[in-house]
Amino acid sequence: MPIHDLIGIGFGPSNIALAIALEEQGDDKLDAFFIERQPSFAWHPHMLLDHAHMQISFLKDLVTPRNPGSRFTFLNYLHEKGRLQDFINLQTFFPSRHEFNDYLSWTASHFDDRCAYGEEVVEILPEMRGDEVDFLRVRSRDGDGRLHERLTRSLVIGVGGAPNVPTCFTDLRDDTRVFHSSHYLRDLARQDSPRRIAVIGAGQSAAEIFLDLHNRPGTEVDLITRTWAFKPSDDSPFVNEIFNPEYTDYVFNNPTGQRQALLEEYKSTNYSAPDLDLIQQIYDVFYQQKVTGNARHLFRRRHEVDQARASDEGIHLVVRNLEDGHTDEAAYDAVVLATGYQRDTHKSLLDPLADQLSDFAVDRHYRLFTPPHFKPVIFLQGCCEPTHGLSDTLLSILASRTEEITTALCASLRETARPVATEDDKRPLAFT
Ligand SMILES: Cc1cc2nc3c(=O)[nH]c(=O)nc-3n(C[C@H](O)[C@H](O)[C@H](O)COP(=O)(O)OP(=O)(O)OC[C@H]3O[C@@H](n4cnc5c(N)ncnc54)[C@H](O)[C@@H]3O)c2cc1C
Repeated sequence: MPIHDLIGIGFGPSNIALAIALEEQGDDKLDAFFIERQPSFAWHPHMLLDHAHMQISFLKDLVTPRNPGSRFTFLNYLHEKGRLQDFINLQTFFPSRHEFNDYLSWTASHFDDRCAYGEEVVEILPEMRGDEVDFLRVRSRDGDGRLHERLTRSLVIGVGGAPNVPTCFTDLRDDTRVFHSSHYLRDLARQDSPRRIAVIGAGQSAAEIFLDLHNRPGTEVDLITRTWAFKPSDDSPFVNEIFNPEYTDYVFNNPTGQRQALLEEYKSTNYSAPDLDLIQQIYDVFYQQKVTGNARHLFRRRHEVDQARASDEGIHLVVRNLEDGHTDEAAYDAVVLATGYQRDTHKSLLDPLADQLSDFAVDRHYRLFTPPHFKPVIFLQGCCEPTHGLSDTLLSILASRTEEITTALCASLRETARPVATEDDKRPLAFT
């Protein structure tokens, strides 16, 4: 069995940016291979809603901040597709999500020979030689249930988020009438003309889904939010500096308590914070209901779902008013959970190695701490928000992060001396 220099798990924007950074790093080419669960590249395919736009400038594509001369820039993509002039005429920094997905697909297509699509990595095991962990064995399963195994000297995990499902819905996981926003378009299409729909959440996805359902005749939506008001995402220029690469140093070098405080302070840049124009559109929908007297949708602000159960009539939600504690029950044909993501999939994948991973502590270069007898190196992309800040789950720092990982990866593969980082660099990947 060949031994790869690197296996990347997941081939979303993070690991595509890494593939590009590795290709552009010069002569010292590594044998890098990627494994992606989806049958072909797609960027959040079930949230590719009409009218949805990027929440980040196209200049923060996969490469421009690192190498504006790269052939993988969004501008070069436009040029190759023959749309550069027309895009300029749009006078925007924010392409549609459809177009950005197409850009990402175009970049991914350059690496088709280095990516196995349609395989889900299920386990990572140590490959021992004597007392040493020499390599890692990566096990994946394809759509037909066949197991695949590959060996590697290093690993970069970039698997994105997993749906965050509130505990009161865990027993309804197999009920197709309850689905997470990450599967919205797919699972909505599977419903049989749903009329009454609950949308739970107050973030960008909840706002987009509410408006999408509003534009589908025959639907009546209850929008259930714990918050009193939708608060807009803060993308003002000074605040936006928290997404600059140098801010990652600032966050990482803060003592743990302060890092948590920094995340709290700027949470409104990314969490429970839709774009202002969506909030205005939603407000207008409810205002027009007052004008016409047709209360088609309901805004259940400051409400929380306490219980959920299924019957033939629908999904019954017991909803509590957080102001006065009063509860009531309503039945829905479908329930959409726009309740965000968890970022701990790496822990279950690495579970067989957990006792050697220093509680998943990472250094500044996103590398997990391992003991001296452990030779492979493991990097994390997109699950280091507690240590590296709010940009970690976003596109903003992909170009610089993958440059840092590439440098650290090449250095550690060349060196026998390890680790590159010292104990002083160690950060627990969770708040204590
Ligand atoms: C609807 C939506 C819109 C967004 N818009 C923006 C935006 O405008 N700007 C911004 O900065 N951020 C945005 N984000 C944040 C988003 O996290 C990033 O844009 C980006 O997708 C992160 O890339 P990633 O590669 O780290 O994760 P992902 O894009 O989630 O990619 C991870 C990949 O890993 C694969 N995978 C997962 N588990 C396995 C496994 N076990 N084996 C193999 N493959 C696996 C997945 O199939 C997926 O393709 C958005 C998020 C959502 C949900």
